[in-house]
Amino acid sequence: MMPSFERIGIIGGGPAGALAATQLACAGREVLLFDEKLAWEKPCGGGLTDKALAQWPFLRDAQVERNWIADCELTAPSGRRVRFALDRQIAIFSRLALNGLLLDRARDAGAALRQGRVLQIDESGGGWAIRTANGNYSADFVVIASGARSSLRTRFTAALGPENFMVAAGYYIPGNHHTVQIKFLEALHGYIWIFPRADHFSAGICGRMQGKSTSELRRTLEDSLPEFGLNLDGARFYAHIIPSLAPDALRNSSFAGNGWAMIGDAAGFVDAITGEGLYYALRSAELLSEALLAGAPEQYSPLVKKDFLPELEHAARIANRFYGGEWMGGSVLERMIKLTQRSASFREIMRDLFSGAQEYSDLRQRVYEKLPRIAMEAVMSKLWTTLGRRVAGRQSNLGSLEA
Ligand SMILES: Cc1cc2nc3c(=O)[nH]c(=O)nc-3n(C[C@H](O)[C@H](O)[C@H](O)COP(=O)(O)OP(=O)(O)OC[C@H]3O[C@@H](n4cnc5c(N)ncnc54)[C@H](O)[C@@H]3O)c2cc1C
Repeated sequence: MMPSFERIGIIGGGPAGALAATQLACAGREVLLFDEKLAWEKPCGGGLTDKALAQWPFLRDAQVERNWIADCELTAPSGRRVRFALDRQIAIFSRLALNGLLLDRARDAGAALRQGRVLQIDESGGGWAIRTANGNYSADFVVIASGARSSLRTRFTAALGPENFMVAAGYYIPGNHHTVQIKFLEALHGYIWIFPRADHFSAGICGRMQGKSTSELRRTLEDSLPEFGLNLDGARFYAHIIPSLAPDALRNSSFAGNGWAMIGDAAGFVDAITGEGLYYALRSAELLSEALLAGAPEQYSPLVKKDFLPELEHAARIANRFYGGEWMGGSVLERMIKLTQRSASFREIMRDLFSGAQEYSDLRQRVYEKLPRIAMEAVMSKLWTTLGRRVAGRQSNLGSLEA
């Protein structure tokens, strides 16, 4: 007989754990969710793409504080800067608000929420014994949704080396506007972001764990804040890690087994280029719930491998080239920003990348198909800029002759 997995223990009440709890409890499962802090301001940008908002419309419709972003500004390592309008808005949430919203939905669906740290998980009588500081609980199936920093992962699968992580440091700074700002730096596999939320900014920097230390990143961010018009008055510091799995680790890591599964950051489901993890946390929760409710938890891995793992593998394969490689005789980052500035067709591709509509898998093909047009637009734009400068120069010469 197939095990029914009636009692499900979920460790972690971030976006992944909370959405899984909601979907399983809605379908009548007995769900026990543990989180040491419940809703909290987890270090994060808090940016949700249009793709995520379309997949889970309650995130768009919910009456919680968030900021809608209509513009994006990119700065290249050389200082070249481009600003463009987004055709589909990004929503930026504080994580306290986002986690609170998701946990309220889980509670309303009938999940029991327990605040406390899970210390140990042991096999027991065909199921699991979950040990916390406040007591012991049992479950037929355990979901590990305890994020990137949790050591619970290693109870079930091999530990990940430092090459599979980025470090991130940042500040919450009072203030607000409606433009997302991203700055790339020379020799940094990562970037600075300024994400404006409802009443403050999440300003941060991330880089490969084996590259720069957290204090070096912090200093670089602090030095850069004035160029964004920001300072540290009233700011609150944060630091965390972001999974950024190497292609082999993504391919070979196991994220499910007999009576257990991992979702979200605990499984390493984050885009290795952008650090975007919220979409994948929610999507993995949804796929696991689907498999469990079909009475086929073994289907979770194949569903992930079909649904989004190829996209994450693609990001992992091209991440080094994105940050440090060359394209058409210059650095990829410089070229990308120059073309965004000069070509409407290239800007369209960038807009689709920011909305989540453009996947990495067919990005190359789309760019190459559009390349003649992109090149023509770039040449014309350069020509107009040069002509504009000449005309302006002549006018000012005439002006000084007349004076
Ligand atoms: C600085 C930074 C900026 C980011 N910006 C973005 C962004 O703008 N957009 C985006 O899409 N992604 C972003 N990410 C990634 C995103 O934050 C994560 O992918 C996302 O939070 C993953 O959700 P999760 O539910 O898997 O894990 P988490 O959100 O980490 O939740 C895990 C939960 O488990 C709990 N927990 C851990 N251990 C235990 C235990 N032993 N017992 C009980 N509870 C436990 C924790 O309290 C926590 O609430 C960013 C990450 C960082 C670090």
